[in-house]
Amino acid sequence: MTAKSPVAAIDGWYTLDDPPHLIGSRCLTCGTYFFPRQASFCRNPDCEGETFEDVKLSRTGKIWSYTNACYQPPPPFVAPVPYLPFAIAAVELAAERMIVLGQMSAGIEVGDLRVGMEVELVLERLYAADGQEKLIWKWQPMGRAP
Ligand SMILES: [Zn+2]
Repeated sequence: MTAKSPVAAIDGWYTLDDPPHLIGSRCLTCGTYFFPRQASFCRNPDCEGETFEDVKLSRTGKIWSYTNACYQPPPPFVAPVPYLPFAIAAVELAAERMIVLGQMSAGIEVGDLRVGMEVELVLERLYAADGQEKLIWKWQPMGRAP
């Protein structure tokens, strides 16, 4: 029996090649980018566009905002040790002029982040089902080994 190759946890939101890309759409009328993909009508209120093309979005951006995704219970509740909160970041893609929310890569905590930090897109295992790895996109500080 051979190992199954990893698949996307959400179909069609990102490529699985190396390096990976998020897949967005661009309105052919006004040029606005969307993620996740938009297929029916343009969300730009000044645009009547109804046709879109799929585009690979920029793999790198700058952190615009970030937060802890997990709520740490206050005392006297005893949190599991070690308590591992994870960070999520809103990342601004300069070329597309858009913000893409994503979880930070494993081991990155809120204390490691700052606004303006450059990050790149990576894929990490979300869970395994039926012997198959499911991958999700995450943001990882630039220059950090996967
Ligand atoms: Zn449009």
